[in-house]
Amino acid sequence: MTPVTSFAGNTVALFGLGGSGLASALALKAGGAEVVAFDDNAPSLAKAHTAGIATADLRALDWSKLSALVLAPGVPLTHPEPHWSVKLAQSAGVEVIGDIELFCRERRKLAPNAPFIAITGTNGKSTTTALIAHILRSAGKDVQMGGNIGTAILSLEPPADDRFHVIECSSYQIDLAPSIDPSVGILINLSPDHLDRHGTMEHYAAVKERLVEKSVISLIGIDDTFSDAIRRRLSGRDRPSAIPVSASQHLPRGTFVRGTQVVSKANNKLPEQAEVLGDLAGVGSLRGRHNAQNAAFACGAAWHCGLTPEEIVRGLKTFPGLAHRMEQVGRKGNVLFVNDSKATNADSAAQALVCFNDIFWIAGGKAKSGGITPLAEFFPRIRKAYLVGEAAADFAKTLDGKVAYEMSGTLDRAVEAAARDAAASGTKEPVVLLSPACASFDQYPNFEVRGTAFRDLVLALPGLKRA
Ligand code: ADP
Repeated sequence: MTPVTSFAGNTVALFGLGGSGLASALALKAGGAEVVAFDDNAPSLAKAHTAGIATADLRALDWSKLSALVLAPGVPLTHPEPHWSVKLAQSAGVEVIGDIELFCRERRKLAPNAPFIAITGTNGKSTTTALIAHILRSAGKDVQMGGNIGTAILSLEPPADDRFHVIECSSYQIDLAPSIDPSVGILINLSPDHLDRHGTMEHYAAVKERLVEKSVISLIGIDDTFSDAIRRRLSGRDRPSAIPVSASQHLPRGTFVRGTQVVSKANNKLPEQAEVLGDLAGVGSLRGRHNAQNAAFACGAAWHCGLTPEEIVRGLKTFPGLAHRMEQVGRKGNVLFVNDSKATNADSAAQALVCFNDIFWIAGGKAKSGGITPLAEFFPRIRKAYLVGEAAADFAKTLDGKVAYEMSGTLDRAVEAAARDAAASGTKEPVVLLSPACASFDQYPNFEVRGTAFRDLVLALPGLKRA
């Protein structure tokens, strides 16, 4: 745990007692603050109480006596409208912050030069975060990974000069971290997302920009117009040093993907003098252009943290990948089974479909608007589709006359049929791919449970060899 000492002797209100909220309450208490916490959810409230956190309805407090409101990232700060606790704080002139802000303040007190790599973007955050942590760990570094992935930031070990904090940040967390100042800040990409919570694309992009604004070094994607505009704006000022990163073009200066290699090039060097930081050839956990983008950021970050190209190349090669994201579950004969349950919309499924040529595609679930119409360009790669869940009928209409399909209904029937057809297909590289282009909530509590169900079904196939 990282005890938060910046509010020692003061009283802090806290709303939202999920995983990170409870961790914040415990860290504040351990650092000497008095914490009064609340949540609408009775079991969360009870859990906090059991953990020794004082709980009370924040509406009953004297807000003039409070030093801050610590808000969990899931609670609306601005849109669709500020939560009632935020309104109470604002009218009393009390600052509203989150756990990343508490960490940043502690880091500045304890070890201002401690390596702190913060990662954001619309897509690829978890993969990039996990890959950076893996590369650093495989070079023997002390790494603390968390934030929006896995462990809450304040449950990690405290910052120290030789300890690397690798922290995934959602836009909600950045919104609650006004002074965020990582040593390496990463903005991978930006596309419209979470606009219900941010109002407009401009506001969403402005929040994301804050992560790289005060970074000592910032790595910023230039493959989309919103991120590129941010990089141009920051480069126009003198600081921070904003390094462009691209997976789609060779750059005069910056980190980019050249063939299968990730390279870094300074302005005054010739293209052939670019430093090779990694090679993606044969790295099954990082297939596809989108993962090349993630790898470019990870290699660039490791390089700016002082790792040698040899160390980075080695780390990249042994990355096991993240569960449910193009996860290679195993092979039966020449059939590869891939779990991409995290692909909950058509955009994400497109990233998977583009990687293979003989696809036995399991899709469906709780439909998103637009369905699979945007995936038409990938239909020639699909040998057959196996449709499950609520969206099956709608997807069938889109596929009709273009792609063979069957209405499997449930995952068990889909896996059985797809495995049988793929084995009998005589195609060169058959892949049974779960990349549903849908949320899971019609049949599963979340995409993880859906992916685990798929993995279990695949592993139970006779003769299956784990990847
Ligand atoms: P996040 O943490 O931002 O949600 P993940 O690393 O968990 O991202 O990847 C989630 C899904 O997003 C992947 O399964 C893939 O379909 C897609 N994805 C991953 N990286 C990128 C990227 N750089 N650009 C576009 N899409 C991506």
